[in-house]
Amino acid sequence: MPVIYKYSAATECSLKRPFQMLIGGAWVNAESGETLETRNPADGSVITTIPAGDKVDIDQAVVAARRAFENSPWAGMTPGIRAKLLWRVAELIEEHADVFAELETLDNGKPLKASRALDVPGAAAYFRYWSGWCTKVSGQTPQLDLPGEFMAMTLREPVGVVGLITPWNFPLLSAASKLGPALAAGCTAVLKPAEQTSLTALRLGELLMEAGLPAGVVNIVTGLGIKAGAALAEHQGVDKISFTGSTAVGKSLLVASQGNLKRLTLELGGKSPTIILPDADLDRAIAGAAHAIFRNAGQVCAAGSRLYVPRRQFDYVVNGIVSMSGDYKIGPGSDPETTLGPLVSERQRERVLGYVDDARQDGAQILTGGRAYGNAGYFVEPTIIGNVKPDMKVVQEEIFGPVLVVTPVDDLEELAALANNTIYGLSASIWTRDISSAYKLARRIRAGTITINSGNIGGPNIPFGGFKQSGWGRENGVQGIESFTELKTVITAL
Ligand code: NAP
Repeated sequence: MPVIYKYSAATECSLKRPFQMLIGGAWVNAESGETLETRNPADGSVITTIPAGDKVDIDQAVVAARRAFENSPWAGMTPGIRAKLLWRVAELIEEHADVFAELETLDNGKPLKASRALDVPGAAAYFRYWSGWCTKVSGQTPQLDLPGEFMAMTLREPVGVVGLITPWNFPLLSAASKLGPALAAGCTAVLKPAEQTSLTALRLGELLMEAGLPAGVVNIVTGLGIKAGAALAEHQGVDKISFTGSTAVGKSLLVASQGNLKRLTLELGGKSPTIILPDADLDRAIAGAAHAIFRNAGQVCAAGSRLYVPRRQFDYVVNGIVSMSGDYKIGPGSDPETTLGPLVSERQRERVLGYVDDARQDGAQILTGGRAYGNAGYFVEPTIIGNVKPDMKVVQEEIFGPVLVVTPVDDLEELAALANNTIYGLSASIWTRDISSAYKLARRIRAGTITINSGNIGGPNIPFGGFKQSGWGRENGVQGIESFTELKTVITAL
């Protein structure tokens, strides 16, 4: 019997209010009056509608953000006051944790347990971390190597109006991880959340206003990527785009942003390897490998979607992961027992199943799963595919679902080459008891994050980003805030 979850009164109330866009401090519909339906991935039902913003709305939002930047109600505030406001946002997220967790699960499908334990507290942690940076952005005083007396200094100034474009896998967390450093640096922003999962970003906008951010400092425009997102990326009034999403769309932003040569941070796709060395604690590694691919139903940019294991340990490890895949409780995120929720949309489910079909046709072997699950909603069984060849699509391309491809390895010297054999370079994890082998291998893998005896973990102070076609730049930590600044040099002859 499916468990019927009763949403809190606060969430019911939140759902009854309209979801509108935030432009210049006002809550508005799209100028065109058009809306988009947003669906519950657990059963396909329509939750509500959101405004279908387009170029016109983006234009208004950029004008509002530009005005707020030039008039300096935000960058002109003392850093300590800005810090207090961002800290207040964190507190407000925590005060409304139930609503945010429930909305996120309803909109994205992820287990409520995960929304409560990770997404919502994570978003608060991001605002708290970035609050601290408001008072710490600073320049340097380099010595000039010239005759005469000079004083040189560098200033870190906000880059200006920033466009923040986020994906659907961690909607609230992605919004927080971009808004936090942008605001700490003194920028003003236009946020374009993913069309499938805009609800928590819009409710976050309410908290930003309640915390006391001046009108126009943060604007939120919902709508389709090809309309609202593309208009933001092309806009001459935007100084920087920070984008998280697919490599294909990331590449299109290079063209879109060239008009005014805006700065770009690109957090893109991945096809990350999990590598188990012969001396690893195999049972820990099995659990880690399963979690790395099945967490968030595989909709994680750093998901461990390729597995490499020495041939001697291969059957033991793969059987272990197959067995663990059977332990996942598939169901709606609102069921407290659920550990594997649906994919975000019907389109994503079909895309994932299409990859599995391709693999079948190419002669790969489906070791477990490989099918849609249930009669309603967008569920896919945890899937493991063996007998793959390195050039198969299923090995080379990001699937973004609960699908693991497994490869036995005969020569350990080949591991780095195998790990590096895709266009991506986001992350990798290595399982071994020999830390020296782990470091040696870590140095040879071209990826932005390498974890040893752990799946992918991180936080607001841990730089994150990709080598190769996994992106440009790094988010989080000092690199994260610097990417929202311009460096100015001032030299004075004394
Ligand atoms: P996506 O299709 O690239 O969309 C990402 C965002 O870009 C959405 O807001 C989307 O809007 C918008 N967009 C789409 N077309 C656009 C265009 N032409 N111009 C401007 N914006 C446009 O990615 P997704 O399917 O939502 O998310 C999955 C991808 O994100 C995966 O590839 C994953 O690896 C990547 N990801 C990377 C990281 C990282 O940190 N490296 C983290 C999470 C996810 P609509 O959704 O409204 O169309």
